[in-house]
Amino acid sequence: MTQVAGPEGSVASETLPVVGHWIGGLPVAGTSGRRGPVFDPATGRQTRWVDFASAEELDAAVAAATAAFPGWRATSLSKRTDVMFRIRNLVEQHRTELAALLTAEHGKVPSDALGEIARGIENLEFACGIPQLMKGGFSEQVSTGVDVYQIRQPLGVVAGITPFNFPAMVPMWMFANAIAAGNAFILKPSEKDPSASMFLAELLHEAGVPDGVFSVVQGDKVAVDAILAHPDITAVSFVGSTPIARYIYETGTRNGKRIQALGGAKNHMLVLPDADIDMAADAAVSAGYGSAGERCMAIATVLAVGASHDPLVEAIKARLPKVQVGPGSDPASEMGPLVTRQHRDKVASYLDSAAEQGATIVADGREHPLYRDSEGYFLGTSLIDDVTPSMDCYRDEIFGPVLTVMRVATYEDGLALINGNQYGNGTAIFTRDGGAARQFQFDVKVGMVGVNVPVPVPVAYYSFGGWKASLFGDLHMYGPDGIQFYTRSKVVTSRWPDPGTSKVDLGFPRTR
Ligand code: NAD
Repeated sequence: MTQVAGPEGSVASETLPVVGHWIGGLPVAGTSGRRGPVFDPATGRQTRWVDFASAEELDAAVAAATAAFPGWRATSLSKRTDVMFRIRNLVEQHRTELAALLTAEHGKVPSDALGEIARGIENLEFACGIPQLMKGGFSEQVSTGVDVYQIRQPLGVVAGITPFNFPAMVPMWMFANAIAAGNAFILKPSEKDPSASMFLAELLHEAGVPDGVFSVVQGDKVAVDAILAHPDITAVSFVGSTPIARYIYETGTRNGKRIQALGGAKNHMLVLPDADIDMAADAAVSAGYGSAGERCMAIATVLAVGASHDPLVEAIKARLPKVQVGPGSDPASEMGPLVTRQHRDKVASYLDSAAEQGATIVADGREHPLYRDSEGYFLGTSLIDDVTPSMDCYRDEIFGPVLTVMRVATYEDGLALINGNQYGNGTAIFTRDGGAARQFQFDVKVGMVGVNVPVPVPVAYYSFGGWKASLFGDLHMYGPDGIQFYTRSKVVTSRWPDPGTSKVDLGFPRTR
């Protein structure tokens, strides 16, 4: 057995439970001989292993999915809807257990874990409307006796590759629409928090999803590359960091697959001088430190326009000591640890570089007692002011509880920074001026925009996606774009003429 060292490099007891795959409607132990450790971020202790699939194990999942697809595709829309309702109800019924798995492996506090699940359930509810969503179009009498209609059909076997930060919601973003539309779906979850995927697989099984229609293949780059190379996988959805998203898009499209690959982010919050400072500060703290900043829609940078700067920094600073940092097992905790020690240390290193590069450290999360004394991967809330565009803490996606603040003289200066950034996932404007907000929505080169809303994650009946280096591909995720992504259209031209009018005509078909 090759144990792939975790970020911490530790190799713990052989007796720990092992998370395997879900193939053909059953949990299946890995056979590749490779596996990696899973840690409890709140204690720093290894709690499980996760099997890493080989290309052959991925082949087995594809074979099960390929076998299941024709029957599932032929299952009536009303029966598939029934199954989707049952999935929705089971996830709702078991949300506390699912949330506990998220806390145990990701580290997020229960309230945040339950929020993630609630947003995932919205995607299941959207998919319950699949009969309406699969409707095509019909044009009668395009020529005499000729009708044209368009239908949507599923693609076949499709795959989803998901990040560590939403181990339940992001899979639901993908599989809800994919399977409702009649596809067979293979999930490759993050190796950092794999258990939620197995729990979801059990619930889908209990809901009546036929064997092979939903599979889970755990693993790392080997499994991902096998997905990208497999000729029977027609489409791949990806959510994760930008370098891997670009790689997935380039490799997958080269192999003839349909790809949507969502990448990283650097979300700016533009605060105009007329904004309500208390409301803006509450929003910045909620959106900057919620989920320990490990959200692709987290606010990373506050752009304080003109006179808003000093009162805003003061108001944010005043709120930070009240944020309860601690393990998810403590009901008082509002912000948990980061996902791994390596990630926590990298996030903390931005405080070093920011100070070296001339920024002002207003609040230093390394001074939090849990950072110093705990074996868990904690970092306190950190605030960096006087940030400039050349600093590492601005250039990189930090993905942790470190909020940066930049002074900008005007709306135009703030807009130029946002539009000049390589990422374009989310952004928000805080103002009382409706005209300014409308202009911002018109001007900004970002896919998801909040007006006095700091985390503008679209509801499930819209679609989620950024611009620029935050998304590779054309279609956004979930909602109407999700249905389009997991189906292809077919246009049928049909003639039911009066047999008496039939004749040979070698000319190009005309409608007039
Ligand atoms: P990641 O890119 O490291 O991993 C994502 C997935 O890719 C995982 O399943 C992982 O196993 C796989 N992977 C990792 N390295 C690989 C490689 N070299 N080759 C092939 N596959 C590989 O991302 P992460 O650290 O799990 O998640 C955090 C990132 O995801 C952040 O950048 C965040 O902004 C982004 N994210 C984006 C969105 C969005 O909607 N745009 C949503 C959530 C997270």
